[in-house]
Amino acid sequence: MRSSQYLLSTLKENPVEASLASHRLMLRAGMIRQVASGIYTWLPTGMKVLAKAINIVREEMNRAGALEIAMPMVQPAELWKESGRYTKYGPELCRFKDRKEGEFALGPTHEEVVTDMARREIKSSRQLPLCVYQIQNKFRDEIRPRFGVMRGREFLMKDAYSFHMDHQSLEKTYQDMYDAYSRVFTRMGLEFRPVEADTGSIGGNHSHEFQALADAGEDIIAWSDGSMYAANIEMAEALAPSVARETPKEAYTKEPTPGCHTVDEAAAKLGLEAKQVLKSLVVRGEEKEDGTHSLVMLCLCGNQELNEIKAGKIQGLSSPLEFADEEEIRKFTGANPGSLGPIGFKGRIIIDRTADKMSNFACGANEDGFHLINVNWDRDIQDYEVADLRNVEDGDPSPDGKGTLHLRRGIEVGQVFMLGKKYSEAMGATVTDEKGQSVAMEMGCYGIGVTRAIAAVIEQNHDDRGIIWPDALAPFQVVIIAIKPTKSARVHDAAENLYKELLQAGVDVLYDDRDERPGVMFADAELIGIPHIVTIGDKGLEQGCIEYKLRKTGERENLPENEAAAVILKKLGR
Ligand code: ATP
Ligand code: MG
Repeated sequence: MRSSQYLLSTLKENPVEASLASHRLMLRAGMIRQVASGIYTWLPTGMKVLAKAINIVREEMNRAGALEIAMPMVQPAELWKESGRYTKYGPELCRFKDRKEGEFALGPTHEEVVTDMARREIKSSRQLPLCVYQIQNKFRDEIRPRFGVMRGREFLMKDAYSFHMDHQSLEKTYQDMYDAYSRVFTRMGLEFRPVEADTGSIGGNHSHEFQALADAGEDIIAWSDGSMYAANIEMAEALAPSVARETPKEAYTKEPTPGCHTVDEAAAKLGLEAKQVLKSLVVRGEEKEDGTHSLVMLCLCGNQELNEIKAGKIQGLSSPLEFADEEEIRKFTGANPGSLGPIGFKGRIIIDRTADKMSNFACGANEDGFHLINVNWDRDIQDYEVADLRNVEDGDPSPDGKGTLHLRRGIEVGQVFMLGKKYSEAMGATVTDEKGQSVAMEMGCYGIGVTRAIAAVIEQNHDDRGIIWPDALAPFQVVIIAIKPTKSARVHDAAENLYKELLQAGVDVLYDDRDERPGVMFADAELIGIPHIVTIGDKGLEQGCIEYKLRKTGERENLPENEAAAVILKKLGR
């Protein structure tokens, strides 16, 4: 490709709207442009990278035995009503009506459509197992689209779905997909970890996420230094501390804490540390048949964080977990959210395993502007349950009993789920077994965020000059920069010759023939992140040389002009 015939679209300035390196660099390198919030056009350079990523995903899916299909992006609401997700999925599901008032949704994922396909096409257990996949744009009306294509509203996903006669067969395909995902992300040059994960709105009972390690990641993963244990913090279990409670001191008393609304404010006023103050939060119980719900108090050690995912899984609590609003709280307790505590609370009380070990602690008095001190479990509060409610912290023991947990940030680039029979039972996707009986199929589903993975690769591979592509995803493998070819026939001829030789060898090469200042061409080559940079100028040619630079390390080399093509091909592993 010649630059003069290409749409380079690089930007010199940093776009103000981009806080994340990958977002900034994708805009500056001319890969993407925003059309509306969370909705992007992929320009030629971006599209070349995307095509290479798609190709890796497709090759590995095919290798794992999955069959490519294409399902519609527009999905009839009817199917979502059958699975029960039409009401459950929430406002991320973009719903609309066609001209005949028919209800539809834009596909955020395709369990319903694929289960409908399976119940029509799969009749006999002999057709199983079956795994199908597609690579297609999804639409999720995300509440906060941000960081470019990292969290878009329209984004490219590879989604695969498998169907099985029994759980054993599902386990095998799950492992095959897990292995295929590991190959995909390795080929993309990502540093990643598979971690145990929550199943969220997709459902099912067993799941792993593939997390690309990056400080910019929105997820936190906990990993053990003494075993293979790794989990999303949403899932990681906090064990009960092995310490015993201290013996209670004198009876509790009420202390004024005017204007204190947070644990830290109350602790400061009372002369205590945050860990000596109980954090009391009021959440909703699950909805009853008449549409009402009870209120439940969750108590944690003041310096620890509630884990909403773990709490949402406790029997009888709203799921996803909902917090009570201020008015509900005031009506139920007589106090505002900053002054709550378990003594006198008239509902169910669940305390965290670590909070359970607190003694002689402070808590809200359920009266505005007052806290109680020297409170003790059992002596002062008898009716409570103990559960794992908090986020794990750096230094906690690993839940498998081996080693200590550490935390790192990650970008979720893929997730695999064992769905079981959730969709097949709801939608009647059954087959006849050997005994002639009709049984619902076991299902798995497997997603890769292709566009997000590209942003993750950039997060892990860039410097202050631009992107540093791994060879497998680079929009061009080689760039030839000719210095003033219009002024020097020798430069012109050498550049044209090398360009033709590389093209003939099948190399994806960009020939920068713009007759720009060398600095401008260099800056663009480095910004776009082309791995191999070749410069042809009069100065070098006088010594019979062409200059070569490796983008990743900055290493420079002079290549003899007549051997340049051969050396470059060797560097490309040819
Ligand atoms: P998240 O927790 O980040 O919202 P998710 O768990 O809801 O993602 P899945 O349903 O597991 O997403 O979708 C499969 C993959 O699609 C994810 O692993 C992620 O890589 C990608 N993905 C999900 N939402 C987005 C988005 N808004 N923009 C870009 N990629 C996304
Ligand atoms: Mg996910």
